[in-house]
Amino acid sequence: QSKQAGRNTWRFFDPAMQAVAVRRALFESELRQAEQRDELALHYQIQVDRSARVTGVEALLRWHHPEYGTVPPYDFIPIAEQSYLIVSIGDWVLQTACAQLAEWQTNPHLAGLSMAVNISPLQFQQPEFVYRLEKIIVATGANPERLKLELTENLFMEEPDAVRETMRRIRILGVKFALDDFGTGYSSLGYLNRLPLDQLKIDQSFVRPLFEDGANEVICASIIDLGRNLGLEVIAEGVETQAHRDWLERQGCHAYQGYLFGRPVPLEALEENLRGLVCTAGNWVPAVTPAN
Ligand code: C2E
Ligand code: MG
Ligand code: MG
Ligand code: MG
Repeated sequence: QSKQAGRNTWRFFDPAMQAVAVRRALFESELRQAEQRDELALHYQIQVDRSARVTGVEALLRWHHPEYGTVPPYDFIPIAEQSYLIVSIGDWVLQTACAQLAEWQTNPHLAGLSMAVNISPLQFQQPEFVYRLEKIIVATGANPERLKLELTENLFMEEPDAVRETMRRIRILGVKFALDDFGTGYSSLGYLNRLPLDQLKIDQSFVRPLFEDGANEVICASIIDLGRNLGLEVIAEGVETQAHRDWLERQGCHAYQGYLFGRPVPLEALEENLRGLVCTAGNWVPAVTPAN
């Protein structure tokens, strides 16, 4: 075909560009098989309240590739979205997270944990999403009240009314909603109080460099005020230092997630870490209260 098109077209067969396309196609086909090959895993990062009690975890997807090692989500989630693979992968994530939640419910020490799961806009907009979710909840026996779906602002850009209706149907099941990466999207604020939201998550891009730039303090304080005034719980992600945590607490932030409290870890490590904590009233506190 290239010969027929004439020699002028040869410049389109840039070997470097072709290599990129081939690598991309290979990557996609490997991702397609990742689930069957048992290469997908969930890691869990704890979330804590103002008293440093663990209230739950966020499930974060990992792809353990036999050659490339662990591929970070930022490298494969976009490809999974472009290829629609995110629909089946997202299904696997929900299934795995709900099965884990159900297992914790049978363990008196872990029964209080909540589970936050990231949902891609494409996955959420599947016509059968509510049906799939309900089926997974019923099949696993997970308590829907302990399940929280993390949505991002860009979900509300195209058909906000349809999305709100879907959220309403899911809310009836008892499932909670968090608005993830808040402040990084392009949507209007007008939709905020019309959605059945429970939690606002301040994006880590404002939290991690909190004191490096005065604007970040203004943005974080404003998001906390906004959330509180709308009756939402506000959680900060990317909390890496005690100074950040203390500042956020003074601003009225309700909950925290970040390396200061724990990195995302495999299941065994999470359960090991929680074993060292005492469970009181459904929350985990350090066995020995640290002296001030
Ligand atoms: P996210 O939902 O905003 O998750 C928080 C990200 O911040 C995680 O990155 C977490 O490891 C990281 N993080 C948390 N605390 C800190 C901190 O103190 N310092 C630093 N440097 N980073 C922190 P991760 O696991 O690489 O995930 C990246 C993104 O990939 C997630 O951002 C989410 O958008 C997406 N993602 C992860 N798992 C899933 C999934 O199951 N489904 C979908 N659709 N997206 C997912
Ligand atoms: Mg998230
Ligand atoms: Mg986030
Ligand atoms: Mg984020």
